[in-house]
Amino acid sequence: MFALDLRSLTLMAFMTSVAMGFVLLMLRRHYPGSIRGMWLWGLAPMVAASSTVFYGLENLFAPLATVVFGNGLLMSGCALFYFGTRRFYGLRSGWRPWAAVGVLLLLWQVFFLIGYPDYRLRLALFAGTLSVVLVLHIRLLLRRPGPGFAARFTAGVLAVQTLVLVARAVSTFWLDTPTSHRFAPSVMQSVYVATFSFSVLLVSVGVLLMASERLRSEFEHLANHDSLTGALARRVVLEDCTREFGRWQRFDHGFALLMVDVDHFKSINDGHGHATGDRVLARVVDALGHALRNVDRLGRYGGEEFLVLLPETGAGEARMVAERMRETVARLPATARAPACTVSVGVACVRQGDTSLAAVLARADAALYEAKRLGRNRVVVAAAA
Ligand code: GH3
Ligand code: MG
Ligand code: MG
Repeated sequence: MFALDLRSLTLMAFMTSVAMGFVLLMLRRHYPGSIRGMWLWGLAPMVAASSTVFYGLENLFAPLATVVFGNGLLMSGCALFYFGTRRFYGLRSGWRPWAAVGVLLLLWQVFFLIGYPDYRLRLALFAGTLSVVLVLHIRLLLRRPGPGFAARFTAGVLAVQTLVLVARAVSTFWLDTPTSHRFAPSVMQSVYVATFSFSVLLVSVGVLLMASERLRSEFEHLANHDSLTGALARRVVLEDCTREFGRWQRFDHGFALLMVDVDHFKSINDGHGHATGDRVLARVVDALGHALRNVDRLGRYGGEEFLVLLPETGAGEARMVAERMRETVARLPATARAPACTVSVGVACVRQGDTSLAAVLARADAALYEAKRLGRNRVVVAAAA
């Protein structure tokens, strides 16, 4: 009959888990502090691995020690993975209630060892407990908005592990007797132990991928956004504009560009200091963003000047959006930390005869200049032809 050498398998599980825990703990030092939970993830395979010492060398220990420490450590390992993920997503978790429930469940297992000895009940209870932790973990991973590949992969591994656990818990009532032994070879027991050994490795890889995905998206955000205001970087918004210009040339989808400039910003800096000027800029961008639609793109063009791309938008609608932006900023109340301010907006739509994006940008710039000349805090739309 197909059956693996369960002791060797357990030894392999021990070594890979310790190695993965070590890798996670070492890598943690090279990741920014914004990526949380890695030390719990690193600890988890180590703790899970130490359980195999008790299983593998159970001849050396009393059965009581094997159940309490072996099962206890494996349960803790699974819970630590789960806590690590909670921490990763910025969720706090009180460990005391968990510890209390864990100890209670362990005591129950001890009862099925000493008070009413039955291997099957012990196994079913243990596997059931682990399944609950795994299901909570899967739910957490999949309920986050837009889980990436890494989260799905981790959830997938946990799901397979849960299925095997449940199958093992149910099958024990057919396959085993009250006095069965952990390392008695059987197909089901082989699948159970093999799945566990393998999944500790795969879950560690999964969480490592989650941390890398997060790291990549944080770097991407840094590269694509202005750190002071949170607006898109100039390069990014210009790339978007160039792409939109290409779409206009090919499919005749029009678009509008808005050039927004804070009025008399130099006097804000001079009168209140540069730090206050910075706060005003951040506040203006926040207000501008609220006046925009989801598809619109707002970037910092330079200094206190911002470029807004409105896809699929004609002159009339663009003027409305620009007016809304101007009003939103003008309505911001003066506070102790930031004085009131206004913006001027130049609007230009792409039109027949435009051979490059630069032509549209130049018209928006000229319209902005005109708005300044006319007294500021106003919108000027460039002529359509
Ligand atoms: P106008 O109404 O004609 O636009 O006048 P203005 O004073 O806003 O225009 P000007 O171009 O003379 O001044 C812009 C000032 O913005 C000059 C520059 O020191 C300041 N500035 C540019 N970037 C930043 C920044 O990141 N933070 C702060 N606090 N000031 C900035
Ligand atoms: Mg200005
Ligand atoms: Mg300016």
